[in-house]
Amino acid sequence: MLGLMQDQPLLISSLIEFAERHHGDAEIVSRRVEGDIHRTTWRQVAARSRQVANALEDEQLLFSDRVATLAWNGYRHLELYYGVSGSGRVLHTINPRLHPDQIAWIANHAEDQILCFDLSFLPLVQAVHAKCTTIRKWIALCDADKLPADTGVPNLVSYEAWMGQRSDVYPWPSFDENSASSMCYTSGTTGNPKAALYSHRSTLLHAYAAALPDVMCISARDSVLPVVPMFHVNAWGIPYSAALVGAKVVFPGPALDGKSVYDLIEAEKVTFAAGVPTVWQMLLGHLQANGLKFSSLKRTVIGGSACPPAMIHAFQELYGVDVLHAWGMTEMSPLGTLCTLKNKHLAQSPEQQTAIRMKQGRAIFGVDMKIVDGNGEELPWDGKAYGDLLVKGPWVVKEYFKGEGGNPLDTDAEGRGWFPTGDVATIDADGFLQITDRSKDVIKSGGEWISSIDIENIAVAHPAIAMAACIGVFHPKWDERPIVAVVKKPGGEVSRDELLAFYQGKTAKWQIPDDVVFVEAIPIGATGKILKTKLRELLRDYKLPGV
Ligand code: ADP
Repeated sequence: MLGLMQDQPLLISSLIEFAERHHGDAEIVSRRVEGDIHRTTWRQVAARSRQVANALEDEQLLFSDRVATLAWNGYRHLELYYGVSGSGRVLHTINPRLHPDQIAWIANHAEDQILCFDLSFLPLVQAVHAKCTTIRKWIALCDADKLPADTGVPNLVSYEAWMGQRSDVYPWPSFDENSASSMCYTSGTTGNPKAALYSHRSTLLHAYAAALPDVMCISARDSVLPVVPMFHVNAWGIPYSAALVGAKVVFPGPALDGKSVYDLIEAEKVTFAAGVPTVWQMLLGHLQANGLKFSSLKRTVIGGSACPPAMIHAFQELYGVDVLHAWGMTEMSPLGTLCTLKNKHLAQSPEQQTAIRMKQGRAIFGVDMKIVDGNGEELPWDGKAYGDLLVKGPWVVKEYFKGEGGNPLDTDAEGRGWFPTGDVATIDADGFLQITDRSKDVIKSGGEWISSIDIENIAVAHPAIAMAACIGVFHPKWDERPIVAVVKKPGGEVSRDELLAFYQGKTAKWQIPDDVVFVEAIPIGATGKILKTKLRELLRDYKLPGV
């Protein structure tokens, strides 16, 4: 017997309809590439996303055709999120920090038809357009009178001229909720880019989940700042969850330096912000250097790579901001776990609570996870056994776009498909996940594993160190030994031996790195993560002392 409830597909258009009807006057504030601050509302975003949809109809774009963006976080990008997906096309957000050849490769692989870009990316578009064989129209996200002449880019129009004259009357179509809505290529810290192809259903379920109190806890009372880019796994779903709850949204545009982000937080009374550790490093640096405090910020989600305990401590203790450590990946839309305490933890000491907050957290309802040994046998949840982390759930990929790389799932005895994350982790008895490392970054020393994350966390806890990256280097006896590359803070003084002494008592003796390499900068990838592959290349001539 079937239930007798209404059968309504979960569609992205329903989010913008809801935001318009119930939270029409909630503000959307954007710092534009031009540098000025632009203000609009959910009501206007809804109307303009319908204009976008009408413009796409006029382009004769078919259902599931791809529309790409090369854009920072801003209201026009948000209109495309809803206009493109809501009308049944697929939004392909491209990371502009990728190499131009990689961008052309991705655009061709996705068979993008139209590409919308911020004017600051015009030089990039000029460099790649001839190689992008499927794109038939280029749209600059600007007013008609801002479009430069003689760009050399064919079929180039301004966004406002393209959509501005269209009707804002557009009945959002209804279709199968499993239809594709958006796509994102993995940032490529490993192998070739592969695309996760999200559906309306996966996006809506993720949007509900992300807003939950034990997840990002966002509501109509929040002013939300996604510093995480809209080209980085849909800004962790915030553009959807913010519509679902009717939050005010503040977009930082291209200005991600500490001062710009701080000024925006203060001016727009931001209560909740989300970003990767490298961006927060710049923000904390600005606060410390200028003796500043936050007046409105209450919570921040930090994820994308391991958040050093020193950063959690600084936000929490010095600035009174709750840090929600999160783990996820492109293939997971991206949220997997988030760290919030349970009721029973409230009676614990601040030290015990801090130890929990350092972990990546508990699975969100909808995400199932397990750790397995080398034979695929499930390992206990005791906080000690570590193994390969596998996940499954309705917002986890089952295949990559165009079947790239074959079947990505491992099938268990019950025939269920699990996605191997490539991460190594422990899970404790309360279900708190702790990422030990990425499987290829783990240092294998004499048959034992050393977590590069642990080594880095200790280094950045030293007051003179701004950033650290640990890699394994060849050792004739132990196979591999860890070394740590560090960047000193401006004015920070520490010697190799002093830093090595700093490890004493903080980790097992055999896990202490064999050497410290002082560097000017550590290579950072397109989504703000440390590029260990590049670092290994840079240090390829390095030899361990005495070996
Ligand atoms: P890519 O896999 O191409 O780097 P993603 O943005 O999907 O791109 O990165 C996902 C990976 O980032 C995870 O598999 C994990 O290794 C790492 N990661 C994400 N969040 C955290 C975190 N809080 N702690 C440690 N590692 C993290």
